[in-house]
Amino acid sequence: MITMEHVSKWYGDFQVLTDCSTQVAKGDVVVVCGPSGSGKSTLIKTVNGLEPFQKGRITVDGIAVGEPATNMSKLRSRIGMVFQNFELFPHLSIRENLTLAQIKVLGRSKDEAIERGLKYLDRVGLIAQKDKFPGQLSGGQQQRVAIARALSMDPIAMLFDEPTSALDPEMINEVLDVMVGLAQDGMTMMVVTHEMGFAKKVANRVIFMDKGSIVEDCTKDEFFGTTRSDRARDFLAKII
Ligand code: ADP
Ligand code: MG
Repeated sequence: MITMEHVSKWYGDFQVLTDCSTQVAKGDVVVVCGPSGSGKSTLIKTVNGLEPFQKGRITVDGIAVGEPATNMSKLRSRIGMVFQNFELFPHLSIRENLTLAQIKVLGRSKDEAIERGLKYLDRVGLIAQKDKFPGQLSGGQQQRVAIARALSMDPIAMLFDEPTSALDPEMINEVLDVMVGLAQDGMTMMVVTHEMGFAKKVANRVIFMDKGSIVEDCTKDEFFGTTRSDRARDFLAKII
């Protein structure tokens, strides 16, 4: 579903990604972890073209990211992205947040967009909140709406960038539970997170990054077992 071959990226003189290669198969759940500043956000943003890269090649469902012939807005509409800070539109109701991109980007009718949006809002357990505004919801609820909004676009894969790191501790699990459900339903996911409980439960693979490189790309059992690198071991010792 996603292939990344020898991807390098620079911000000016600073090399933020160095020769990153990996593959994510349909239905895979890949957790990306590593120290702050190691390039995790940049890596997953290259996948949907939010960050351009200078070297290498990325394909999503066979389509080359960032090449002139590729319709990037179409490709991006098929890849769901959930950020740390929810990024709902504050002046729109939850229902309008769920339907806007479906109508504007996918050209769905209002009725169809509402039907789909509310289906996913129900799935994340928030149907009763449909007429509220984002500011009236808790952080955990807003993040669940952001996930429902992404799902309403029928994505072929979902990218998450530290979706629980801005949440109060008591709200983390309600968001992780939704993500676990998605993983178990077979959604292809790349998830930047330090929630190792989530990784242990549903990840197929774990990527560990350090200083812009993919240092480990292995099965969950290998990662949490004994074969990992010193750098990954030091990192895990600090966060678990
Ligand atoms: P992570 O998500 O692992 O914390 P990031 O991908 O956000 O790491 O950032 C990797 C490195 O790139 C950091 O050193 C960061 O300071 C740098 N960086 C991120 N965005 C920019 C930018 N727009 N311009 C210059 N440097 C950046
Ligand atoms: Mg980051």
